Amino acid sequence: MENSSICDEIRENLRVIRENISEALDRYRSGGKTDIMAVTKTVPAEAVNCVFDMGLNLLGENRVQEYQSKAERYDKRAEVHFIGHLQTNKVKYIINSMKMIQSVDSFKLAQEISRLSSVNNKVMDILCEVNIGGEESKSGADPEELEYLLEQISALDGVRIRGLMAIPPPGGSDIYFGRMQELYERFKSEYNMNILSMGMTHDYVQAVKYGSTLVRIGTGLFGARNY
Ligand SMILES: *Cc1c(COP(=O)(O)O)cnc(C)c1O
Repeated sequence: MENSSICDEIRENLRVIRENISEALDRYRSGGKTDIMAVTKTVPAEAVNCVFDMGLNLLGENRVQEYQSKAERYDKRAEVHFIGHLQTNKVKYIINSMKMIQSVDSFKLAQEISRLSSVNNKVMDILCEVNIGGEESKSGADPEELEYLLEQISALDGVRIRGLMAIPPPGGSDIYFGRMQELYERFKSEYNMNILSMGMTHDYVQAVKYGSTLVRIGTGLFGARNY
């Protein structure tokens, strides 16, 4: 497929997503706002680059290596957040290219991010990832331990807590979205949070209903991951 037709498809997908978000906001959160992040895993840089002319410049990266292999070809307008599971020993590879790290789920990881940020004379924006469904297979902090984790992390000089991130369990139960909203409301003013990152292709409308300020969309934007 030539690039313009790939972009046409993505443009149409984005139009529908924006419409759905705007309807959900009207219905449930009048006056509210939810941003869209384009999740790029397995998507070629050329296809990712379609979004910048559509008023979207926020990218979500899952894997350090994949990001490194594509970063050079991304449009210069890209603002990149790391959203995948991050090993402490890989922080050094992304510390200077990320605008935010959304997947901070332990004090040890936060400490390493803070240490390397300080070395590089910067302060990294972070979100704390919460394993809201208590699923074995997922990373994220235990909701019961979030309060203590936030308290510990807030003492670090090289990171700035901006909010919470979650991947609620599949199945679409409202319970987990509701719990994330409660946690966010509980800690928001104490830690000056302004981002609740939840909602993906299959559940972003529900996430908007429960206060998400940032939805992360991959397949719904770029199509199925079969490149
Ligand atoms: C892959 C991924 C997404 C996007 O998933 P889709 O279902 O393709 O929209 C969002 N967030 C994270 C953390 C992901 O790994």
